[in-house]
Amino acid sequence: MNELVNLRAEAASLAAELGPTLCEMGEDDALRASVRALGEAGLLRWTVPASHGGEATELCGPETVSVRALSAIRDELAYEHGVLDLAFIMQGLGSFPIALSGNAAVAAEVLPKVAAGECVAAFAVTEEGAGSSLGEVATTAERDGDDWKLTGKKTYISNAGVADRYTVLARTGEGEAILFSVPESVVKVERFEVLAPHPIGEVILEGASVPDSARLGDVGAGLDIALANLGRFRTSVAAAACGFARRALDEAVSHLSEREQFGRKLSKFQGLRFEIAEMDARLRAAQLLVDEAAERLDEGAEATSEVARAKLIATETAGWICDRAVQHHGGLGVKRGTVVERLYREERALRIYEGTSEVQKLILAKEIFDKE
Ligand SMILES: Cc1cc2nc3c(=O)[nH]c(=O)nc-3n(C[C@H](O)[C@H](O)[C@H](O)COP(=O)(O)OP(=O)(O)OC[C@H]3O[C@@H](n4cnc5c(N)ncnc54)[C@H](O)[C@@H]3O)c2cc1C
Repeated sequence: MNELVNLRAEAASLAAELGPTLCEMGEDDALRASVRALGEAGLLRWTVPASHGGEATELCGPETVSVRALSAIRDELAYEHGVLDLAFIMQGLGSFPIALSGNAAVAAEVLPKVAAGECVAAFAVTEEGAGSSLGEVATTAERDGDDWKLTGKKTYISNAGVADRYTVLARTGEGEAILFSVPESVVKVERFEVLAPHPIGEVILEGASVPDSARLGDVGAGLDIALANLGRFRTSVAAAACGFARRALDEAVSHLSEREQFGRKLSKFQGLRFEIAEMDARLRAAQLLVDEAAERLDEGAEATSEVARAKLIATETAGWICDRAVQHHGGLGVKRGTVVERLYREERALRIYEGTSEVQKLILAKEIFDKE
C-alpha cells in the first residue's frame, strides 16, 4: 500500500502549504484556488477513472475511481481546510455520473478538464420537496425536437455559482428519471450561506435547453446513476469526517499539554485524560470502518452495510470529537479564528449531506431485517 502512503504524504504537504492562505480568502476564491492547486498537483486525477484520463492505479479497475485513494486524500485535506476538501471531492461527485452513463462524447469533452482542474463540477439532485427521498424529484425534462427543456429548482447545491458543469436529475412527463450534464450558461443561481464556508445555493432551470447529446444514460436510468454515484462517494465523506476529527484531537492534546489551571497542566487532570483516550479510540474505530468500506468498494464487492456504518459512525463520532475539543479549549474554543471553532462548524454538514445519519440507519436496518 505504498501508493496510498505516498498519496497521503502528497495531499498532506499540499494541504499544509495551502490551508493557512485559504483561511484568509472568501469561499469562492478559496474554492477556485483549491481546484487550481489540486489540479496542478495532479491530485484531481484521482477523481476521474483512468479510462477517462484519470490516474492509472492498481487500487481499482480502470472504469472507476479508487475509494481508498479518495478517502486518503480527503482525510488529509480536511485536516487542514473544509473548502479544500470540498473542492477536491466535488470534482468527482459532480462528474462521475458522466463516466457511469457511458456517454463517450460528454466524457471526452468534460472529464480530462475536470481531472486538470480546468472545469469545476457540481451534482444537482436535491430539491425543496426531494431531500432524503430523491425519488420525489419534480424538475421536468420535456422533449423539444432534438433538445430537452429542463424546468425546476435545485437546492443546497455545492459549487453553485462557481461550477462550469452541473449534473442534473430530472423527470420526464411519463415520470421517468433522467440525468443531464448541463453547462453553467443555461442555469440561474441564487446563493445562500451555511454554517461554514461552502459555496452553495439554488440552481434554477427555467426551460433550460440542452441537446439530447447531453443526456447521461438512458431515459429512466437517471435515479440509478445518481444513487450509484452517491454509493461510490459516500465513504469518502466518512473519511473527511475522520480528517476533521483527527485535527480536533491534535488541537485538544496540544492545548491541554500547554494550558495550566489550578497550578497544573490541564493534561494532568484525569477527567480530561480519559476523554482524550476515548476520543482517540473512537476515532480509530471510525477510521477502521472507513478502511473496511473503501477496501470492499475497490475490490468491487457488495458494501451496502459497510458504507452505511462508516458514514454514520465516522460523521457522528467526528461531531462528538469536535465538540469535546471545543470544550477543552474553554472560551478559546468558541472564539472566531480558533482552529477547533472552525472544525466544529465545518464538520456539522457531513452528518446531513450524501444521506443523513438517519438515512444511514434506515439502510443498515433494511440490510439487517429485510435482506433476502
Ligand atoms: C452543506 C450541504 C451541501 C450539500 N450539497 C449538495 C449537493 O452538492 N448536491 C445535492 O444535490 N444536494 C446537496 N445537499 C443536500 C443534502 O443531500 C440534503 O440536505 C440531505 O439529503 C437531506 O435532505 P433535506 O435537507 O431535504 O432533509 P429532509 O430529507 O427533509 O430530512 C429532515 C430530517 O428528517 C430525517 N428523515 C428524513 N426521512 C426520514 C425517515 N424516513 N426516517 C427517519 N428520519 C428521516 C432526516 O434524517 C433529517 O434529520 C447538501 C446539503 C448540505 C447541508
